[in-house]
Amino acid sequence: MSAQIIDGNALSQRLRAAVAQRATALKARGIQPGLAVILVGNNPASQVYVRNKVKACEDSGLRSVLEKYDADLSEAALLARVAALNQDPSIHGILVQLPLPVHIDAHKVIEAISPAKDVDGFHVASAGALMVGQPGFWPCTPYGCMKMLESIAYELKGKHAVVIGRSNIVGKPMALMLLQKNATVTICHSGTPDLKAMTLQADVIVAAVGKRNVLTADMVKPGAVVIDVGMNRNDEGKLCGDVDFQGVREVAGWITPVPGGVGPMTITMLLVNTLEAAERSAA
Ligand code: NAP
Repeated sequence: MSAQIIDGNALSQRLRAAVAQRATALKARGIQPGLAVILVGNNPASQVYVRNKVKACEDSGLRSVLEKYDADLSEAALLARVAALNQDPSIHGILVQLPLPVHIDAHKVIEAISPAKDVDGFHVASAGALMVGQPGFWPCTPYGCMKMLESIAYELKGKHAVVIGRSNIVGKPMALMLLQKNATVTICHSGTPDLKAMTLQADVIVAAVGKRNVLTADMVKPGAVVIDVGMNRNDEGKLCGDVDFQGVREVAGWITPVPGGVGPMTITMLLVNTLEAAERSAA
């Protein structure tokens, strides 16, 4: 039997409608949630991401300010911009699009963002808050994956979740979020000797690797939930995930497609975090 699809576009629409409603309520109190997006250089993929984020803000009644700088902007100038935005009461969220040009220390820039405005959830204070279960901003991609599980009313308590990938922005925070919901969590990475032995035990698999066909049907327990974070190109140049979708959908119970799965959820959670930042500033 074919798996049920967790539709990231449909879920995003519902969540964005709720964001728009909350934004309207805030506006009635004289506060328009504002996101500042900083783009340095002209990386084509970054330009597309930034455009999508700005458009998503506008569609949901959030104000967005796009600041574009040439690739030779100095690190000091960028840090000064971030400092100014930290002080700007009309800006509730600050996003610095990565990657930055090599002469700029991305870590230093992210750490310069006020944790109260860190809507990407990349600051060490945000990572630490997630680690110890304190309020903070969760990184948008794994947060979106959690919302997808919530949307199918999936009970994580007592389940085994296997996360493939251990990056600071996806794999590690994903594992912590699943742990917080009482799943038993295994994290796999490039040094895991027998990935299949791990994934075959999983009730939930999150693939966040960046390689096509990392997860195939023979690696999945029947009925498992499969969340595909990967963004790759197939031989025809079309967007695809890490999961062999056609094969795995015949075994899994639930599966997220690529495109139309985690991708739209990532931007949606950026809107949610920005709105949340504005609400917290008004509290
Ligand atoms: P990343 O920093 O490159 O991390 C990839 C992880 O995969 C690493 O931990 C690596 O292990 C592990 N890995 C590599 N080969 C492996 C293998 N054969 N078996 C098991 N693990 C393996 O990537 P990322 O930033 O986390 O992103 C992962 C993917 O998600 C990419 O395709 C990215 O484009 C996509 N992504 C999508 C969204 C979205 O909105 N949909 C958002 C963010 C990222 P080591 O640590 O040992 O090297």
